[in-house]
Amino acid sequence: MNRAELKPRNEYTDEKRIIGEVLGSEKGPTMVVFSGIHGNEKAGVLAAEKVLARIRRENLYFKGNVHFILGNIPALNQDVRFKDADLNRIWTPDKINDLKDESFLMDSETREQIQIYALVKEIVSTEKGPFYFLDLHTTSSPSVPFITISDSLNNRKFASHFPVPVVLGIEEYLEGPLLTFINDHGYIALGFEGGQHTDPESIVNCEYFIWKSLVHSGCIDRGQVKDYDIYRDHFASLCCSHQFFEITYRYALSNGQDFVMRPDFENFETIHKDQLLAFSKGMEIRAERKGRIFMPLYQKQGEDGFFILRKISRIWLEFSKVARTWKINHFLRLIPGVKQDPENEFILLVDPKIARFLTKDIFHLFGYRQQIFKDDKMHFIKRDRKRTQML
Ligand SMILES: [Zn+2]
Repeated sequence: MNRAELKPRNEYTDEKRIIGEVLGSEKGPTMVVFSGIHGNEKAGVLAAEKVLARIRRENLYFKGNVHFILGNIPALNQDVRFKDADLNRIWTPDKINDLKDESFLMDSETREQIQIYALVKEIVSTEKGPFYFLDLHTTSSPSVPFITISDSLNNRKFASHFPVPVVLGIEEYLEGPLLTFINDHGYIALGFEGGQHTDPESIVNCEYFIWKSLVHSGCIDRGQVKDYDIYRDHFASLCCSHQFFEITYRYALSNGQDFVMRPDFENFETIHKDQLLAFSKGMEIRAERKGRIFMPLYQKQGEDGFFILRKISRIWLEFSKVARTWKINHFLRLIPGVKQDPENEFILLVDPKIARFLTKDIFHLFGYRQQIFKDDKMHFIKRDRKRTQML
């Protein structure tokens, strides 16, 4: 693999928004693969191009369809994460509503969002599914590859095919990621972080992730992918293991905040309470709790300094699956201080004073994640959804 491939290429245009599509000769699932949602993350784009070229070159038999879609085109051309706003933080219901208003002030990422949204809507309204959405990223710190998902059972099930760590519940800490928006409409949506931005291995990791997704969704028969086992062994050699983690802490950065992470942290590295992690405005930033460091920031752009993770036990995962499958979650509404949002069947409004004996963990167990804090109420949103129409 050649590091030169990851050098900036000033060649992306709106006409190339769709990197390519494969329309299968038999009915089957639809897969949508996004890459370059962050413009300085090229590995996913290259992996998409390579997979697409190989499907065509080897004329692989394909069921269903796959669409490879490019993310932030102006940012890709300038090799920056974003120009005006992070394209992976603007998929909130309010922002989506604003898109309909033509007088709305249009920044660079809003233009990208409008085009991507139109494509996604067209795909989900003209094809039958089942649908699988993938979003390929890379990190500024060295990292084993990993998956991020909203904690729905269909996401968990699909993610469990991959021998890499899976991080749940990132939507509780980030506002407006693209895949949370898609998952909110009932679709399976997996984020994949292939490794460090400039590491050529990240391209291989993204390729493997795409191939494996195509096989497990049923688009391609495994026997057709000649080096499938090589890819699998490649992952094993990275010492990846399939474990679930949950975010317990986020160090958020305000706009322009001076922030320097201490060098040499690797993603998922174990840290102890009070360990010195970073500096900001000459002050030490120490770990508020023990756990694993996650996504330490080693680049200028970004709103997250770092996160802290904890491992989730298998027992918790199994129990929460049973609880959700048997719909025991309905009992949550009977608890004083918890009521259904009259305007949204998927949201529980929780009075933090009355329901203070409940921890967030209980809501997590039953498949709810805190979305926002509004009008003195915590809003917990249900992750397991039936498919709903995009407006
Ligand atoms: Zn990214």
